[in-house]
Amino acid sequence: MQHTLRSVRETVERLWPLSGAEGWDAPGLLSGDPAAPVERILLAVDVVAATVDEAVGTGADLLLAHHPLLLRGVTSVAEDRYKGALLARLIRGGCALIAAHTNADVVEDGTSAVLAARLGLTGTTPISPAADGVTGIGRVGTLPEPTTLGALARALADLLPPTAGGVRAAGDYHQPVSRVALCGGAGDSLLGSDPVRSADVYITADLRHHPASEAREQAILGGGPALLDVSHWASEWLWLDTAAGQLRAALPGVEVAVSELRTDPWDFAILQ
Ligand SMILES: [Zn+2]
Repeated sequence: MQHTLRSVRETVERLWPLSGAEGWDAPGLLSGDPAAPVERILLAVDVVAATVDEAVGTGADLLLAHHPLLLRGVTSVAEDRYKGALLARLIRGGCALIAAHTNADVVEDGTSAVLAARLGLTGTTPISPAADGVTGIGRVGTLPEPTTLGALARALADLLPPTAGGVRAAGDYHQPVSRVALCGGAGDSLLGSDPVRSADVYITADLRHHPASEAREQAILGGGPALLDVSHWASEWLWLDTAAGQLRAALPGVEVAVSELRTDPWDFAILQ
């Protein structure tokens, strides 16, 4: 069966409905001819030079990225700026671009749900549920066996693809953990929510000094989770395999590949 960008886009928007996206987000079709045939799709977290080169170089007709390349108002796609240069390279290379971002976070097999499943969490529910109670941002659930914060950090490090930052922890290495809240990507906005505050540990990415420090100080007073801070890219990369499987099932005959390139921007860290 011949698939076009139009039919692939319909599949993408059925798997990850745009209605699930946050108001500030800009997922969907960024560039491409709806009538163009699609035989190869490459999945990546980020649209950067390396993944664009990989998409064009491997003959992909579509780069499906988690992060939208264009999120705020754009007045130029001149090629002396990297976004214009990347878009031009994709267009000249005959490769369309679609983003599935917060609309792919909230679904039942979304970014946080995949991370929760890989950790073996049970009884999982969204941290911030939509009206249906099933979809929503983040996940909270229970580990199959209670463990320690240190052992969970180790398991997480083994599960995620390697990055310079690894896994950072706030809490006692030996403290017991059973109830886990997590949010793939930058999840500091959920630090004050009840499901996170009542969990033993909160796993997310991009935790800055003040949100992390304030959450830990509050935990001393009134209880609150230990924190595990992971790579933003790594926390969302795991989802690509699930997304690729869903696309393969929905689009027979289309070759779907996942980029193995690390697009986490940090290259090395010096531990003191
Ligand atoms: Zn993200």
